[in-house]
Amino acid sequence: MTYEYDVVIAGASVAGCASAMLFATRGARVALLEKRTTIDAHKVLCTHTLQPGALPVLKTLGVLPELEAAGAQGHVTELWTPWGWIRPRPEPGGEPLPHGLNVRRSTLDPILRQAAARTPGVDLMLGEAVTGLLEENGRITGVRTGARTITARLTVGADGRGSTVAAHSGLPARVSANNRLGFFARYRGLPPAPSRVWFLDPDTAFAFPNDGDITVIACSPSKEKHSAAFRRDMEGSFESFVRALPDAPPIDEGERVSKVVGTFDMPNVYRKPHRPGLALVGDAALATDPLWGVGIGWALQSAQWLADASVPGPGEGLEEYGRKHRSSLDSHHKLMEDYSSVRPFNPFEKLLLSAAARDAVSARHYQLFAGRLIDVKEFASPAALLRALRVNALHRLGR
Ligand SMILES: Cc1cc2nc3c(=O)[nH]c(=O)nc-3n(C[C@H](O)[C@H](O)[C@H](O)COP(=O)(O)OP(=O)(O)OC[C@H]3O[C@@H](n4cnc5c(N)ncnc54)[C@H](O)[C@@H]3O)c2cc1C
Repeated sequence: MTYEYDVVIAGASVAGCASAMLFATRGARVALLEKRTTIDAHKVLCTHTLQPGALPVLKTLGVLPELEAAGAQGHVTELWTPWGWIRPRPEPGGEPLPHGLNVRRSTLDPILRQAAARTPGVDLMLGEAVTGLLEENGRITGVRTGARTITARLTVGADGRGSTVAAHSGLPARVSANNRLGFFARYRGLPPAPSRVWFLDPDTAFAFPNDGDITVIACSPSKEKHSAAFRRDMEGSFESFVRALPDAPPIDEGERVSKVVGTFDMPNVYRKPHRPGLALVGDAALATDPLWGVGIGWALQSAQWLADASVPGPGEGLEEYGRKHRSSLDSHHKLMEDYSSVRPFNPFEKLLLSAAARDAVSARHYQLFAGRLIDVKEFASPAALLRALRVNALHRLGR
């Protein structure tokens, strides 16, 4: 059949814009459909901390200088644990640590969408909501919107956690409960501080300095313990939770410039990311617990893996994309899914985190894992476990 486009993409947010740019720079003609009507629309429910694993894709897309000029803040996150702070530092005289980026979605999303819109080969169509898929002989051949049909060699679902494309695709999904709440607010004028995460075991909290002198403060406590109080008084419960943190961010020294927003329910959704003629990227493929701040990075990386696997052209290499997606994200997601049950740390996590709070090498090792630069197997490698045992034994002996 003759196709109008090489690639049609549903959703022009992180995963969709990245996919559009990566395919177009490889010579494809891309239709990028976004249900929202303005180019500067942005996702609201997001605390927008990007892990170091996200940065190579932003570099490839060429948007890093613009993000930095807009005030995006590099970060090496510090973590409070019951054993003390983990403060990753470079080796003396060594290379700087790989850093992540904190940048508001109101800054990030428009920069990405404008970059996609000006990429030759990309037709950005705003106000176009995908409502269904076209199929011929078991292959997806395009999409339907309210007003039109668009055919393409490859259809990409980049339409987020509640993906319409996925719902129409028949692809299997594994959905599991997340027993945490997720709430956050923005503060202006807080004293300078690094990006911080509190692992209260099992509750968690976060403080991320962003562009525009904004610090995002967030918490992710147990649903069972905190739901009733948050439903009764969301703002009061949120701020008392934050004030009670050890070394709490001094929220009363700044001004809260947003409502407290968040969600009582955000299940983990993991879908098979392809079938003939169709691929899912970003949250449409895998929406994991937001606690770990990995969704934006994985949206960018999955777009990159899809474009890299699409050899010799769009619609090819989907099995390869599926393998890369699974081998890169499966072990991380399984651990996150398990932790979203609100269980306490397991003995391995206790060992590795306590050592990271006491030892610079173990702290750097933890930072690579939290930045999603190494996988779960490497994080809990025999060498890392042995070092952690030694660090803790010496600590007990007072050395
Ligand atoms: C409370 C919370 C906090 C989070 N904090 C972080 C964090 O700190 N760091 C991090 O990395 N991640 C975080 N995430 C996750 C992150 O927001 C997502 O992983 C990320 O936005 C996924 O990008 P995406 O492009 O796949 O999907 P989205 O950003 O959700 O974009 C989907 C796009 O598709 C469009 N769309 C939807 N349906 C259609 C349709 N039918 N037709 C056309 N267009 C459509 C939407 O309008 C939207 O533009 C958080 C999530 C939550 C819920």
